[in-house]
Amino acid sequence: MFDKILIANRGEIALRVIRAAREMGIQSVAVHSTADSDAMHVRMADESVCIGPPSGTDSYLSIPAIIAACEVTGAQAIHPGYGFLSENANFVQIVEDHDLSFIGPTAEHIRVMGDKITAKDTMKKLGVPCVPGSDGGVPTLAEAKKLGEEMGYPVIVKATAGGGGRGMKVADTAADMEHAFMTARSEGKAAFGNDEVYIEKYLTTPRHIEIQVFGDGKGQAVHLGERDCSLQRRHQKVFEEAPGPSITAEERARIGKTCADAVARINYAGAGTIEFLYENGEFYFIEMNTRLQVEHPVTEAIFGVDLVREQIRVAAGLPMSFTQDELQINGHAIEVRINAEKLPEFSPRPGTISQFHAPGGLGVRMDSALYDGYKIPPYYDSLIAKLIVHGRDRPSALARLNRALGELIVDGVDTTVPLFHELLQEPDIHTGAYNIHWLEHWLETNLQD
Ligand code: ADP
Repeated sequence: MFDKILIANRGEIALRVIRAAREMGIQSVAVHSTADSDAMHVRMADESVCIGPPSGTDSYLSIPAIIAACEVTGAQAIHPGYGFLSENANFVQIVEDHDLSFIGPTAEHIRVMGDKITAKDTMKKLGVPCVPGSDGGVPTLAEAKKLGEEMGYPVIVKATAGGGGRGMKVADTAADMEHAFMTARSEGKAAFGNDEVYIEKYLTTPRHIEIQVFGDGKGQAVHLGERDCSLQRRHQKVFEEAPGPSITAEERARIGKTCADAVARINYAGAGTIEFLYENGEFYFIEMNTRLQVEHPVTEAIFGVDLVREQIRVAAGLPMSFTQDELQINGHAIEVRINAEKLPEFSPRPGTISQFHAPGGLGVRMDSALYDGYKIPPYYDSLIAKLIVHGRDRPSALARLNRALGELIVDGVDTTVPLFHELLQEPDIHTGAYNIHWLEHWLETNLQD
C-alpha cells in the first residue's frame, strides 16, 4: 500500500480523498493555487504544495507542477478527483512515465472512452445497447442532412470530444440542422480542440440512468446499481438519487451485469460510470466516465462502501474488498448540489461566507469545503457543497432532505438552496415522475424574475 498520495484537485472532492486516505493510514499531500492558500483541503492535508497562480490552467491543470510536487514530497500516487486532469490520458501517461501510480484507469481506457465515437463503438462491440445514430463521425453538412431525413427528426448533433453539457445541439426539424451541425462543431473545436461530430436520435422523454461499475484491472468487475440523474439544467445534474425510482430489480440486475461484463472484458481498473438514457423500458448508452463522479456518495450510502478507498486499493494492486453477491442495496439516498449561484439565472456568486452551519443527524452527509469566513474564489466551479441524505426508503429520504435543508445555513453568498426547498413542494418529485426535461420546464414556469 502507498505511504503517501497527492490529490490533484481542490474543494470538497479533495477533502473526500484526504478523508479516505487518513482512514487507511496514508499521508496526503494537497496542491493548491495562490488563490486557495486558505482553502480547507490545504488545512486538512498532511502537507501542501503551492503549484501556481489562480487560473486553473496554470495550477490544477499544470502537469509539470503536479509531477514536481510529487517528487518534492515523495508522494507515490496521484488521485485526480473529478474534473481538472481526471480524464486526461496524456497526464496519466506522464504520471506512469515518472514511475508514479495514477489512482484510476489506464491512459488507454481514458483515451478510448474520452472520444465519444470510439466509446460508443467499443461499447456496441461489448454488447452494450446504444442510442441509434450515425456510424461514427459525420464530416459534412450534406451527410448530416441525409442522416436526419433517414433517422427522422428530432436528432442531436454531438461533438465527439464534448463534455459537461457542451458541444451538443438538438435539431428539431430539417431546417435546424445547419445551425445544430455548425454550432456543435464550433463548440467542440473551441472547447476541446476537436470539431468531429456525430448524430443520435434525440429521445424526447428519457430518464438519465447511470450504472456504477468497478474493476480490478485484472478481469474482475462488479456493478453497484444505478443512479437516476434526470433532474438536470442545461444537461448538468442538479439532484441525484439511488436507486432509480423507475428501475426494477430485474432491470438493474440485467443492465448491471451487461456493464460489469463489458468492463471486465477490457480489464478496466477502478471506478467508472456507464451513462444511459432510459425510455420505455430500454437502456441506450450515451457515454462512459472513467473517474469518480460528483454523485458517487448516493451509491456509497445505499451499498455501505467507500469507493475512494476501493480506488486506492485497486491502484495499489490489491483486490476489490467486495464481490457482486455481497453488494446489497439498503434504503434510498439523494444528493443535491449546492452551488454559489444566484437564482433564477444561476449566475456564479463568489464571495465571503459569513456564516456556515452544516446539517447533521441520522442519515445526513455533508461534503463541503466551506467554513465560516471562507472566501470563495471566482476562478473555479461554483459547486460549494453536496448534501446527501439516506433513509430506509424514498419517502424517508425526501423527508430527511427537507429536514436537513432546514438546518443548513450558508450566509454571505447566494446559493441554489432555495431551489431545493421549492422542488420539495412538487408532487412529481415525491412520485418520482420526472424525465431529463422536467426541471427545465419547471424552471421556465416557476423561477421567473
Ligand atoms: P456530456 O458529456 O456533455 O455530459 P452526455 O452525452 O453525457 O454529454 O449527455 C448529457 C445529457 O444530454 C444527457 O444526460 C441527456 O440529458 C442529454 N442527451 C444526450 N444525448 C441525448 C439524446 N440522444 N437524446 C436526448 N437527450 C440526450
